[in-house]
Amino acid sequence: MITKEIREQFPILGQEVNGKPLTYLDSAATSQKPISVIETLAHYYKNDNSNVHRGVHTLGTRATDGYEGSREKVRRFINASSTEEVIFVRGTTTAINTVASSYGRANIGEGDEIVITPMEHHSNIIPWQQLAKETGATLKYIPLQADGTISLSDVENTITAHTKIVSVMYVSNVLGTINPIKDITEIAHRNDAVMMVDGAQAAPHMKVDVQELDCDFFAFSAHKMCGPTGIGVLYGKKQLLDKMEPVEFGGEMIDFVGLYDSTWKELPWKFEGGTPIIAGAIGLGAAIDFLEQIGLDEIEKIEHELVEYAMERMSTIEGLTIFGPRNRAGLVTFNLDDVHPHDVATVLDTEGIAVRAGHHCAQPLMKWLDVTATARASFYLYNTKDDVDALIEGLKTTKEYFGHVF
Ligand code: PLP
Repeated sequence: MITKEIREQFPILGQEVNGKPLTYLDSAATSQKPISVIETLAHYYKNDNSNVHRGVHTLGTRATDGYEGSREKVRRFINASSTEEVIFVRGTTTAINTVASSYGRANIGEGDEIVITPMEHHSNIIPWQQLAKETGATLKYIPLQADGTISLSDVENTITAHTKIVSVMYVSNVLGTINPIKDITEIAHRNDAVMMVDGAQAAPHMKVDVQELDCDFFAFSAHKMCGPTGIGVLYGKKQLLDKMEPVEFGGEMIDFVGLYDSTWKELPWKFEGGTPIIAGAIGLGAAIDFLEQIGLDEIEKIEHELVEYAMERMSTIEGLTIFGPRNRAGLVTFNLDDVHPHDVATVLDTEGIAVRAGHHCAQPLMKWLDVTATARASFYLYNTKDDVDALIEGLKTTKEYFGHVF
């Protein structure tokens, strides 16, 4: 599909905002949804809506087939070895909290270490802070290099025989850094630690193979990859998940319930207490179909060309600072002179351009960058060079506006 055809699949992009054609550059926060995903959700609610795994009636069977069929699509998408290793959760945040609560509480104690980086999203910091406080473990950080990357020698020096869990983001939502997850996993395993990967900014944009990475846990959210909100995935190796306790108890996840004791279903259902996110999972399946139809390699190529073009054009704007390494994923985080990023985003909005401004759920990283906030333009498969050109014009307008006011 050429980009024009891809764009036509996203009805939301055809609108005007503030009298200008919408330029959507906030896909790292959430992506837009193609018509196939929207119609899959509508079709499910119009035709098949029912609870799963319970009824023997036809609608119940259709809903169950759709839900479990999506699990198989996810398994293929990340190359997990079995659907037992694919747990549907609310999103990346829930996936990381599940590992911290279940694996963490059972395996971490006083004197143990949890290793993360200062570039993590809050959802990959706070669960570990809480676990460390609860258990008396130490939370350690792999230091960042000046360009916002991490070096393997620092990884080697930070992870020790006391480290029990290492949790690192694959792709930074602020710097665009692509971390060497396979190498970090190898170092973690050499020290008998388990490796958790926050894949929220990776799964939508590049081919992920959990067996090739050899990570123990991998988390991502459907809403950043053309799917619905409210659904995401926790991948975990079967031998670890088998030994872990569920974190939510109730319907759907039980085998036998007595007055004083109960037993759990097998994987993956023991981690899916209550009525699951049925429509969401089916919508995620449709999103995977859509992304695979275009191809993850093609998506990566589109974004790479856009980010290269954006970096080149943005570097010609005087007073504009770009944060993060040269080699990066499809986003550019920046500040413009002394203009507050919220003001930048507000002026751009008047031009129909949607960018993110704030701390991007990465306050420790903002501190490291020595800024209170930044603006961020993030690209996805439906963006074009015209969108980058609109951003450049918008930034020039912003400069003129503030130059004029002050
Ligand atoms: N990790 C990263 C790198 C993210 O960018 C995000 C969302 O912005 C998250 C985790 C949290 O994802 P969610 O809010 O879908 O749970």
